[in-house]
Amino acid sequence: MPKLIFLEVPFEQKDEVKALGAKWHSKRRKWFVPEDGDESIYSEWIPQYETEFNLRAIAPFYLIHSFEICYKCKMDSAVVTFGSLGCEYLNEKDDEYSEEGEGDEIKEEPVSFSYISVVPERLAAYIEEKLPNYFLDWSNTTESFYYMNHCEQCGAHLGDFFLHSEPEHAFFPQTPQEVQRMKIIDLKPQGTVKLSASPHWGSMEFILKHTSVVGSENPRQDQS
Ligand SMILES: [Zn+2]
Repeated sequence: MPKLIFLEVPFEQKDEVKALGAKWHSKRRKWFVPEDGDESIYSEWIPQYETEFNLRAIAPFYLIHSFEICYKCKMDSAVVTFGSLGCEYLNEKDDEYSEEGEGDEIKEEPVSFSYISVVPERLAAYIEEKLPNYFLDWSNTTESFYYMNHCEQCGAHLGDFFLHSEPEHAFFPQTPQEVQRMKIIDLKPQGTVKLSASPHWGSMEFILKHTSVVGSENPRQDQS
């Protein structure tokens, strides 16, 4: 299936893109370029996503399933994020004064990731295929695009700040009982995965302590 090109269209411009032939994706609640369409005529609405990685996750690399009560419709919705057993920050750029590897900081402690904005292509394909409510979307809080959870019932944005930083929310459990609802899947037992994301230290250790990692689902080899 060819990848759809989604557009970021302010509400007041919806008639304009509709007149050009853009289609409405009811599940994502976004306009997109029709499959036989000429994307160049929609260029002003095609979002510019980030492309730089800022860290490397140390395997195993986990897919974390949890639940969040939607603030809007008050229903329980499945949400996801990723985690690993540590990460290494990548140098922003090579400068002539630093030795090879110098300045890279490695922290080998369980970590969960929020504000994920860049993933390797194969992981992006996996997300697209398996996690329909988790996709790049604009956040007014961070004023950037990141992989955001959306309520499976009503499509509301379930932003990472609440999911990760507020106690008792999806990825910040306070009791073993809360962890029991979560499901951790080992996606990539070996190697590393590059990301652009913010690491969270603390919760992941607690999560791994109170639940077991199920199976090993290696969607594609060599995600780095
Ligand atoms: Zn909802």
